[in-house]
Amino acid sequence: MSMNRRRFLQACGASAAVSITPTGVKAASAPHVVVIGGGFAGATAAKYLRMWSDRTIDVTLVDPNANHTSCVLSNLVLNRRITLKELKMNYGGLSSFYGVNVVRDRANKIDGAGKRVRLKEGGWLNYDHLVIATGINMINPPSIDYKLTPHAWIAGGQTNRLASQLNKVGPDSTVIMTIPKSPYRCPPGPYERACLIADIIKRKGLEGSARVQVLDANSSIQAEKHTFENAFNNLYGNIVEYITDVEVEDVISTEGRVITRTADYVGDVVNIIPQQRAMGFIRNAGLTGDGLWASVDPLTYASTVSGFDGVHIIGDSQATGQPKSAHMANAQAKVCVDAIIRSLAGVANDDPERVANITTASACYSPITYDQASWLSAVFAYNTDSGQMALTHLGEAERWSTGNYKQMFGWASNLFTDSFH
Ligand SMILES: Cc1cc2nc3c(=O)[nH]c(=O)nc-3n(C[C@H](O)[C@H](O)[C@H](O)COP(=O)(O)OP(=O)(O)OC[C@H]3O[C@@H](n4cnc5c(N)ncnc54)[C@H](O)[C@@H]3O)c2cc1C
Repeated sequence: MSMNRRRFLQACGASAAVSITPTGVKAASAPHVVVIGGGFAGATAAKYLRMWSDRTIDVTLVDPNANHTSCVLSNLVLNRRITLKELKMNYGGLSSFYGVNVVRDRANKIDGAGKRVRLKEGGWLNYDHLVIATGINMINPPSIDYKLTPHAWIAGGQTNRLASQLNKVGPDSTVIMTIPKSPYRCPPGPYERACLIADIIKRKGLEGSARVQVLDANSSIQAEKHTFENAFNNLYGNIVEYITDVEVEDVISTEGRVITRTADYVGDVVNIIPQQRAMGFIRNAGLTGDGLWASVDPLTYASTVSGFDGVHIIGDSQATGQPKSAHMANAQAKVCVDAIIRSLAGVANDDPERVANITTASACYSPITYDQASWLSAVFAYNTDSGQMALTHLGEAERWSTGNYKQMFGWASNLFTDSFH
């Protein structure tokens, strides 16, 4: 973080309780920040807005669900190491302990000039700052039926569906999984999933009979290359068939058929991880420069599109080029909160000391077998020349191990607690 809590409160804390009075808001009323989406990015933002402002900011968190189901660790539901129930994060602590106003609804329109956001049920909600953290939207192959060929890339019913299909894999079965072009949610995630499916096959004694065909739209493995190459070529050499540069054009789910530019592939189980982009209401508002992900300034995560003063986009929906991960979403939320509180307190966001300390980090643990995992971590720092975040450190596990597998749960537990509790 660019500033620890004590220094932050010195800048705009106890005395800021009276000084945070944004324009357009009566001096007596507290500023209002609306957070759309209660996943890793949004929940962290809501919690830290309350905590770091010493509860002087009113925070409303909007999410259609009563709790958030974590994608992190969700590949372990596929091989039955954990249940989906263990991945459910409820918002009780955010409301009862931090005083976040949690509203169960769905945002569908932003009025940048009017500084308000429209909710499907609740109508318009005014904000001084708006934080959008709604994760990903799928670009669906035209004929796909996800009930038959699940994506399982947003954890929930889809994950259980794929788990039960994998449970039925038998001799000579072919499992097909597809990997979208980068950038997509969780760079190592699809390769980790391929390993776990291969492990399921191995543990069923089907090695040499059942197989996994991995159709990658990219021309090479996108993360932990050394680890996954080793796993695909050696550990699962006669189970995994890894094919590059395969872009899915359509999926005929009833036939288990994946249509690509070069060939058709048919599987008994078909897991399509489709191309991804930001949610429709973000794109419809014109906040996505490239039509896919929202353009933001990584110093504040404020939109770079004019007419949207005070609108910030964090987590998987934004386009800074940093990995789309929960760890990263949590880090971005804190930079964004720091910027919002400063802005409300009239403290500059671009002073050299702050700018020099803007860093974020990402970590992903990848289970490779039933009880072994590898990991990947990346650190980014703000580059003043480019005005972008630049990779400064990259770390990878030398090998997968049971030690890493155990550490994975400690890391995840810390991340869950820091984001939701
Ligand atoms: C299999 C798998 C493994 C992964 N492993 C890791 C890992 O090891 N490490 C890691 O750091 N990351 C991992 N990730 C990635 C991580 O889960 C995502 O990057 C992270 O969840 C992104 O956080 P987010 O807040 O942007 O989106 P989400 O966590 O998806 O949250 C978005 C929220 O917005 C809500 N929402 C959507 N639309 C609206 C709307 N219109 N109005 C209101 N609310 C809305 C949703 O209900 C949801 O609660 C993994 C992902 C997968 C699929």
